[in-house]
Amino acid sequence: MSGPASGSGLRGEAAGRDILALMTELFPICRSITGAGFRETLGILKRRVPLEVREVPSGTRVFDWTVPKEWNIRDAYVRGPGGGKVIDFARSNLHVVSYSVPVRRTMPLAELKAHLRTLPDHPDWIPYRTSYYREDWGFCLSHRDLLALEDGDYEVVIDSTLADGSLTYGELFLEGRTGDEILISAHACHPSLANDNLSGVGLAAALAGSLAGARRSYSYRFLFIPGTIGAITWLALNEDRVGRIKAGLVLTGLGDAGRLTYKRSRRGDAVIDRAAAHVLGQASPPGRVLAFSPYGYDERQYCSPGFDLPVGRLSRTPFAEYPEYHTSADNLDFVSARALGDSFDKTREILDILEQDETFVNLSPKGEPQLGKRGLYAEAGAEEMALLWVLNLSDGGHSLLDIAERSGLGFEAVRKAADKLAGAKLLARRAAKGAAG
Ligand SMILES: [Zn+2]
Repeated sequence: MSGPASGSGLRGEAAGRDILALMTELFPICRSITGAGFRETLGILKRRVPLEVREVPSGTRVFDWTVPKEWNIRDAYVRGPGGGKVIDFARSNLHVVSYSVPVRRTMPLAELKAHLRTLPDHPDWIPYRTSYYREDWGFCLSHRDLLALEDGDYEVVIDSTLADGSLTYGELFLEGRTGDEILISAHACHPSLANDNLSGVGLAAALAGSLAGARRSYSYRFLFIPGTIGAITWLALNEDRVGRIKAGLVLTGLGDAGRLTYKRSRRGDAVIDRAAAHVLGQASPPGRVLAFSPYGYDERQYCSPGFDLPVGRLSRTPFAEYPEYHTSADNLDFVSARALGDSFDKTREILDILEQDETFVNLSPKGEPQLGKRGLYAEAGAEEMALLWVLNLSDGGHSLLDIAERSGLGFEAVRKAADKLAGAKLLARRAAKGAAG
């Protein structure tokens, strides 16, 4: 087993260390949107959570897309005029443009250069590049290494295959008391990149382990999929059941040092949007909440107009705002157990709100009830304010999340006050769970 058993109660930095250990194991694997690296990744996740591995054949039509050929790579290098390897896939899997077709040729530097990608502004970093939907080949290298290449003939070898096979993804379903589902989606198609990709994968796996051992109203569906084509494929194969999804999160970019950022769903005011905004607003320092836009990760697919699912995205620094994004600098040193643990805790808090939000009715609404004679008198302060807010707004039309938002108090304080008041028979539950939307 890698890491603790399912249902571990780890929180904070300890949870972050557990996630980082999993990321460290997954980091060296050369993943792409299909192929052996993706399967190997799911195999490692499967030791922690009992996910199902699905295979969808190349050529399958999925809405406006087609499942691509399967790509596999064994080796790749460029040998210079001096005889040594000047670019070597064995040293970093970022060196090869993902989905490069097989090549075995000798060519002059000028011709090779048309296939080389670098980052002149960050001369020591290797960029991450792909060519999924256009058959091509290429190498990525540091700009410093490019400048050192001498004129002459270069031997170019890409030992890859691009052939009919399948697209692989992982799916885990945790059944709750209701059929209403919460979707947790992470893309797992990037090679050795830590924050963009593995932080979301690791956090989702840890979350699945932790929720498996928790009491749940909702059912949870976890997807470990290749970006874009994986989400589209899953939606196409599951169109008849997406109506059960009452909330969802795309998880990625959760290990860097920045503040948490939540991107709203297309709906903008779904319960997941409100719960996430509440948790980030209460955090110290507070996180950021962004409006929906039709760009980004797989929320683009879940929030396409034909689905319009209540799915937002949780990250720390958004991908467009850190230069390490899609480069070799997004490595295991760029992420920390502390940030991963904080992301894990906040994700649990958001989901806890979804699980625990409900609506009460004040049974003694004419004048304030006398709290003292019921042993509920609290010292003036947050606890008393929570009791008063819950009593005042529990008219059957305000949920605990509504009350937390309006009062500025934390959801947990409001929840505790409601439990106390219900215990003293001052509140009655209005509606069963499961009406979230
Ligand atoms: Zn990416």
